[in-house]
Amino acid sequence: MIVRIDQDLCTGDGLCEQGCPQVFTIGDDGYAYVKDGIGISEKAAIPIHLEDSVLAAAEECPGGCIFLLAS
Ligand code: SF4
Repeated sequence: MIVRIDQDLCTGDGLCEQGCPQVFTIGDDGYAYVKDGIGISEKAAIPIHLEDSVLAAAEECPGGCIFLLAS
């Protein structure tokens, strides 16, 4: 699964980071990004064992800005 965040919709509240810090982080600009194993990015592939946590974060995201794609 690939997760992508649309920073234009992100409120910066940090709920995704709280729920799944292995995947999400808040960047210096105050918006959420995905950890890609090297740094942070708008999108990245995530390991299978974190998919449930990412799905929950997407459902709870108040900005509706976490998008999930089949990899
Ligand atoms: S939960 Fe959604 S709106 Fe909140 S920081 Fe994460 S991506 Fe942005």
